[in-house]
Amino acid sequence: MKALYPGTFDPLTNGHLDIIERGSKMFKHLIVAIAENKRKKPLFTIEERVEMAKESLKSFDNVSVLPFSNLLIHFMKEHNINIILRGLRAVSDFEFELQLALMNRKMYPDCETVFLMPSSKHIFLSSSMIREIASLGGDVSCFVPHPVFMKIEEKFKMIKES
Ligand code: ADP
Repeated sequence: MKALYPGTFDPLTNGHLDIIERGSKMFKHLIVAIAENKRKKPLFTIEERVEMAKESLKSFDNVSVLPFSNLLIHFMKEHNINIILRGLRAVSDFEFELQLALMNRKMYPDCETVFLMPSSKHIFLSSSMIREIASLGGDVSCFVPHPVFMKIEEKFKMIKES
């Protein structure tokens, strides 16, 4: 069974990594699908987000990373996948995730969404919080994989110098 873990991953955090680790044990193959998501105006380009994720996930034999910019269900059909993996942190995630899962199933009836909970130590982690802390000069090294930390340092150094 193949599954797809879609998101913006701007950038990938240890919370995402936790879900990927759990998913990689449940599914034969897991694709981390990185949405271009121009609407969200990501801090990192799609190329940077893919590169950081690939670098951070290279120890997983059955996990691959792909970018996508079309509708999720179209991307899933192209890759012959009908399972979506999503992470649930708190009640606050639930309403949006329920709406998304039901909308995807309405458009693609064979599509099922599987939710996994991360370890409690990752419950409070979000990409937006990482971006906020890093932009104010805070140390985020314990919240993200090392390749992501290196790229964050580089990005904010560049922004500061420009
Ligand atoms: P999106 O733009 O789709 O919300 P994200 O990159 O923010 O993309 O998140 C992708 C998925 O990972 C979502 O299901 C989100 O709930 C989940 N997620 C994000 N952060 C964490 C975390 N700390 N622990 C568990 N799941 C998480």
